[in-house]
Amino acid sequence: MIHVKKDLSKVPDKLTKKKADFENTIINKKYSKESYKVVQKDLIDLYHDKCAYCETSLKNNFRAVEHYRPKGSDVDSKCDASYGYYWLALSWSNLVLSCSYCNSNKGCCFDIKNQSKRIAYKNECFKDLHTITKQYNEQEKPLLFHPEIDNPEEFISFDTNSKIKLTDERVKYIVKICKLNRDDLIELRYPILKTFKDNLIEIFNDIRYDKELSSQQKLNSFKREIINFSKKANDNKSDFLAWRKFILKNYQTFLFHPTESNYNTIIKLAFLKFLPKK
Ligand SMILES: [Zn+2]
Repeated sequence: MIHVKKDLSKVPDKLTKKKADFENTIINKKYSKESYKVVQKDLIDLYHDKCAYCETSLKNNFRAVEHYRPKGSDVDSKCDASYGYYWLALSWSNLVLSCSYCNSNKGCCFDIKNQSKRIAYKNECFKDLHTITKQYNEQEKPLLFHPEIDNPEEFISFDTNSKIKLTDERVKYIVKICKLNRDDLIELRYPILKTFKDNLIEIFNDIRYDKELSSQQKLNSFKREIINFSKKANDNKSDFLAWRKFILKNYQTFLFHPTESNYNTIIKLAFLKFLPKK
């Protein structure tokens, strides 16, 4: 999960035109799926067609316009607290893009720390609701990260099997409700590390006994692999950006060999040369 910038001063016209639907929602506490679906394309662009929570590519998957604060309530919810914020069904700052797995796993879960400050609808006008999420979050202190308000990368760390470590209360919450350590995600995340590591080891095995190469030439053999990995880790279109960036930042943990000190030395020199710390 990564931070995504949304410009709240530019609410899509398609959404602001839904005032009549909003008024209906307030009266009947019911919302039409078609109303908020109008911004799906805007969210696809903003989220680079990736799930806001698990970061899988949605190119060949079902895309959900997901409500950060659930629009409905669910009495059978698996969570401690479930509560419907029906008046936010069309709020721009409450809408994110997600995959169907995260969307359905999360369901109506939305636990907050400030239970006594639970928000109710207070006749806010439609226009003001588009930007209200940050203010609501300051009051309720939700456990769920908001990709446009929080910077989840500051909290999320991974182990060498690409599983998210359960180090923080809010990290535990999102891993639990969106099942971010589910098998199909591990099957996609882990090979990113394995391929990178295997390629570096293969390069090392090709050059290690080559007497024709100077030590600088040996070092340069790693350049393309490391630069390419870094490019993908800095390209907003790549899936699993948080994981890719975490590998780079902690390359010694993820890429070093347990016994090959010569390999570790050259990898460290290559990283320092090709990805100098800014
Ligand atoms: Zn997802």
